[in-house]
Parts: sequence; structure tokens; C-alpha cells
Amino acid sequence: MSRILYTKPSITELEVAYATDAAATGWGAKCYDYILKFEAGFAEHLEVRHAIATSSCTGAMHMGLAALGIGTGDEVILADTNWIATAAPIVHLGAKPVFVDINPETWCIDPAAAEAAITPRTRAIVATHIYGNLCNMDALLAIGNRHGLPVIEDAAEALGSVWRGQRAGSMGRFSTFSFHGTKTLTTGEGGMFATNDPDLYETVLTLSNHGRSRGQSRQFWADMIGFKYKMSNIQAAIGCAQLERIDALVDRKRAILGGYRDRLDDLEGLQLNPEPPDGANGAWMPTAVFAPTTGVTREALQAAFQAADIDARVFFWPLSSLDMFEDRRENIHAWDIPGRAINLPSYHDMTEDDLDRVAVVLRDTLV
Ligand SMILES: *Cc1c(COP(=O)(O)O)cnc(C)c1O
Repeated sequence: MSRILYTKPSITELEVAYATDAAATGWGAKCYDYILKFEAGFAEHLEVRHAIATSSCTGAMHMGLAALGIGTGDEVILADTNWIATAAPIVHLGAKPVFVDINPETWCIDPAAAEAAITPRTRAIVATHIYGNLCNMDALLAIGNRHGLPVIEDAAEALGSVWRGQRAGSMGRFSTFSFHGTKTLTTGEGGMFATNDPDLYETVLTLSNHGRSRGQSRQFWADMIGFKYKMSNIQAAIGCAQLERIDALVDRKRAILGGYRDRLDDLEGLQLNPEPPDGANGAWMPTAVFAPTTGVTREALQAAFQAADIDARVFFWPLSSLDMFEDRRENIHAWDIPGRAINLPSYHDMTEDDLDRVAVVLRDTLV
């Protein structure tokens, strides 16, 4: 039996053909063709007005927060359960990430906890749709409205996720996506900034181009200090091919999560990623959370998967447990759930036999 990998991109002849074309011909007058096509196609998919391709999701978040004017002394509220990439740009801007607890059903930010954490210094709330699960956007947007605060969506893990008819990443003031090699759609490394706000779009466009605004006619003239978080045309070519296959890529992810559900439905005390009411989970990362009563631990799960030659990964540590931050043990769900949870393999080319093998490990760990 061969090792079951955790993630692996789905690359076909289409990606290879577009990348080859970009490498062979995508220079000079054509050096932005794939980038512009990828941005337009992505905006159309999301049903938002503007999208800017970036070198990473982290870069997209950094520029978006900077464009909102977030800086020294400001506070940004986000879930304690998050990838470090969501918090790092806040810190780089001199602002303070304020970590709040998650909802134990969705593993996403608890809106009531977010509202309770608002202070006069709060400048934004970040809604990260963790593992493809959806934040309660109705509640978060209502809180944002009540307090005059922008809600930002980190949709890096939520391509294909839908909340009441709207795609994840189309509801906040702006949203960010990642096309890292582990994500549902990949360009190797890469990301996207998306927004419906024309002013924010112009500001981020300028920031993303070393601070040179579109209307600037002087050559090599920067209007402000910006960033360099651009995507290359070759990466965008791969992205264009992936975008043509987006429905198939998401459908396969959802089928894998469904395959786990079918195999594990009868197990008491095992929770998999939920579907949102009136929507869909893009199923980026199928994750198993065991109830405290089962006694199943992260360490037992890691050992069992290692013995079965299956690459499974730990649930995100609460960011407030990292040395750089102050402990927030009162975020009980964010601190408790990782100790009895595991991320499951979910790459597109997994076979039914692979799903069987993973399910057996979970079943055997429980009894
Ligand atoms: C992957 C990921 C990121 C970072 O993406 P990069 O493209 O690597 O910068 C940010 N937030 C979340 C929730 C992610 O999963």
C-alpha cells in the first residue's frame, strides 16, 4: 500500500498548455494578458466587481488592511482559530490582533464573542471561513453595520463555499484568497484581493504596483509607499486553466467530504465539517473532531495515521497559544477542539480505496 498524501494539486494538460504558452509568448505587449484574464474570470466567478491577483493571500490581506488605514494602536478582531497568515499582516501594520473564541459547530468566529471584543480602537473584524466552513455572515455583517466596522473575509479556504446564495468572499468589505499549492485552486503560490468597493480597489491597485497610481503619467513615479505583491503572468496562466475547471475542482472536494460522511455517518461522537444553512461547504479540508466523551486525542490520531502511512495534520493551534501573543485560554473552544481533532487527506485524485483506508483509521481509533 502506498502512502496517502494530505494534499496535492490537480494539474491537467490544460494548465501545462497555458503555462507553456505564457512562458513562450507571454512577454512584452502580452505580459499582463493571463493576469487580466485571471482577475476578470475570478471576479465573475465570485460575482464581485473587482479582483487583483497577488503573490499570496497574506499579501492581499496586508494591502487590504493597509488600504483601510489600519495602523499603530488599532485593533482587529479575528478568531483564535486561524492560520498565522491572517494575523501576521495585522502585526506588520503595527495593529493588535484581538483573538476571540469560535463557534463549536462551525469552528469559525463566534459573532457574539466578536461583538463583545469591540473597543474604541477596533477597526475591523476578520471572518475566516475555516476549512471551507462558513462564518455566520448575517450576524457578522449586522454587527459590522451596528458598529460602523468593516467585515473582511479571509476566504483562502473557502473557494466554492456559499452562504445563502452568495459566494464566500463576495460579502465583506474585501476578501482574500490563496492559491498556494495546498488550496482547492492553485497557481503554485498566489492569491487574490476581491472587493465591490471601487475606491478600495483603486487604493489596493496603487499599493500593489509599488504605490504608482493608474493615472500617473510620469515614469518611475511613486505616489505613495506601496508593496510588491504581484502575481506573475505564468502563475496566472495556470490560474486561468484552474478557473476553467473550478466547478469540477470544487465538486471533487465536496465529493471527498461526502465520501467521508457516508463512511462515518454511524459513528457517535465524531463531527465532520458542517454544511451551512441554505448554502454549501466548499470542503477544502475535511476535518474530524471527536467529542470529549470519546477520549480520542490528537496524539492518538496522529500515531494511528502515521502507522497507517497516511498524512493527516493537526487542527490549527489557537494563535493566542503561540509565544508571540498573550494567552487567551478563555477562548475555550479554540483551545479545546484541536486536542481532539485531525485534518484528513483530501486531494482531488484520491480513490475510493484511499477514503476507505482513512475511514478505517478513524473508526479503529474510536473503539
Ligand atoms: C492558506 C491560508 C492563508 C495564506 O495563504 P498564502 O497564499 O500562503 O499567503 C491565509 N489564511 C488562511 C485561512 C489560509 O488557509
